[in-house]
Amino acid sequence: MEAQSDQIRAAAELLCGRRNVVALTGAGISVESGIPAFRGSQGMWSKYDPMEYASIEAFMADPEKVWRMLGEMMRVVGEAGPNPAHDGLAELEGRGILRAVITQNVDGLHHAAGSRNVVEYHGNLRELLCVSCWKRYPAGDARYAEPVPRCDCGHVLKPGIVLFGEPIPWGAQGEAEAHAKECSVLLVIGTSAQVYPACEIPHMAKEWGAGIVEINTEETPLTGPVTDIFLRGGAVETVSRLLEEVLSIEAQQA
Ligand code: NAD
Ligand code: ZN
Repeated sequence: MEAQSDQIRAAAELLCGRRNVVALTGAGISVESGIPAFRGSQGMWSKYDPMEYASIEAFMADPEKVWRMLGEMMRVVGEAGPNPAHDGLAELEGRGILRAVITQNVDGLHHAAGSRNVVEYHGNLRELLCVSCWKRYPAGDARYAEPVPRCDCGHVLKPGIVLFGEPIPWGAQGEAEAHAKECSVLLVIGTSAQVYPACEIPHMAKEWGAGIVEINTEETPLTGPVTDIFLRGGAVETVSRLLEEVLSIEAQQA
């Protein structure tokens, strides 16, 4: 069952009343853009088990195998565009309600939607980097073609994303923690809250006093103990309803 109108209203009042909102997004926000999430058996993840393919150990052991999955992921992401949920967050930022988006996604769709303050917690697919000398290359450069792109120094290039077993980039970790501690509302959208350490962010925000609004088609480990308002539904429809309600509250206040 979809979120009730009074729940949407309560969430919109929280956002408008406190402002200083930060969003934490996961793969679920991009599902309606055509990029399958990890959890759930659809699409490319039924072919490629992420735990088998998306770890740094798997990559170092057999980069060609992992690049087969990455190549497909880059093609899927390359064909996708932002949806109204990404657009809605950009609009909330433009209106001074949302301060930042922390995203676990590597698809670049928040930037494409016009969000300015985006923390890419797990990196992005725009760049490739050398596993030996850390030289960076734009991913679109055809020179670094399949089966395995290589650096000028001869070593293998990896995508600029955080694979399982790799640390979160220092800058992104620090920014995400600062946002979690300073925000008044954390809007958690489309994450299973099972990937560590990203799943710590809602707990940290809660401890530092933020209200937690969660949007997901299913309940998650956050839903009972951490979430204050759970809005069940797809990201596109739910963010659109929330934005509409925010705009109507703002119009009444003007
Ligand atoms: P996840 O795959 O573990 O979970 C996806 C969550 O989204 C689930 O809780 C599911 O119920 C929910 N969901 C599915 N469809 C939805 C919809 N239409 N609207 C709202 N919610 C919906 O994703 P995760 O928690 O982000 O963790 C997986 C890791 O893999 C992350 O690092 C993630 O960014 C990465 N990943 C990224 C992409 C991408 O960049 N688009 C795609 C797949 C995986
Ligand atoms: Zn190199």
